[in-house]
Amino acid sequence: RGPGRYAVFGQPIAHSLSPRIHAAFARQLSIAHDYRPIEASTEEFVGALAAFAESGGVGANVTLPLKQHAARLCLSISETARRADSVNTLVRRGEGWHGESTDGAGLIRDITGRQRLYVRGRRTLLLGAGGAARAVAFALLDAGIGELTIANRTAERADALADAIGQPERVHTRYWTDLGQWGGFDLVVNATSAGHANMSLALPTSLLASRAICYDLSYGKASFGFLAWARSAGAGHALDGLGMLVEQAAEAFEIWHGKRPETDAIYAELRAYLPGDAED
Ligand code: NDP
Repeated sequence: RGPGRYAVFGQPIAHSLSPRIHAAFARQLSIAHDYRPIEASTEEFVGALAAFAESGGVGANVTLPLKQHAARLCLSISETARRADSVNTLVRRGEGWHGESTDGAGLIRDITGRQRLYVRGRRTLLLGAGGAARAVAFALLDAGIGELTIANRTAERADALADAIGQPERVHTRYWTDLGQWGGFDLVVNATSAGHANMSLALPTSLLASRAICYDLSYGKASFGFLAWARSAGAGHALDGLGMLVEQAAEAFEIWHGKRPETDAIYAELRAYLPGDAED
């Protein structure tokens, strides 16, 4: 058996940037790191993961739509993954899988490390209450943001996330349709997938405090609508999720290999490769 195989599971997976990011990390650190995309639906995932382990698989990333599913399949999961109810990084331990969630850490590293901005004390609006929203909500609170307001198209999911967090003095929910009545947010994080369907969020421009950070978890074309809104609403910083993608990958690489890759070069390479924001 060789040094062990790695993979990213998801559906669709063909356009995933993760193999390219991990290949760059492996070259940089001269580590043998055989990392490939494996297409799997939720129904296929258990079988595909078992076959992968059988063929020498020792680590994997998991992306849409499998992150929650992965959390159920693990023999053990980290506290971060348990709270997020999401696993994006699998590590083979003995006869089973250990699950970690590096998405939240990736977001915080991108904002505070790469962008050199602070999140501490910021009055934050989180748009969305899906898997990614859940992971970043805990990470933002841990990083010391001020009040967190959650708004989701389906209001019950926002309430369920606020209940799961369980800090009623610090975490509130608002109806999406009432957002026009609210303002003064220093940080707005878009964790919806609306941009992928080219759907506008129809956000009011009155939401932002001066010099606010607006961050879209998606990148490429899917982020253009939100970033254009952010600029029109006077944001101090309008950022997409490419840095988060690279940083969550670096966290996973470090979990597997015990060495932290430097991320600037691959970030710059992908930035040049992705379509630019035509509305900039
Ligand atoms: P989910 O499918 O779990 O959640 C989707 C969310 O988007 C839900 O809150 C849903 O609301 C909302 N939504 C979908 N369409 C609309 C719309 N038209 N208007 C308003 N809200 C809408 O997806 P994930 O949480 O896994 O992913 C969310 C985003 O984060 C994606 O763009 C994904 O690519 C990105 N992401 C980026 C990462 C990175 O590293 N940069 C890592 C992980 C995710 P409702 O509950 O009402 O359906």
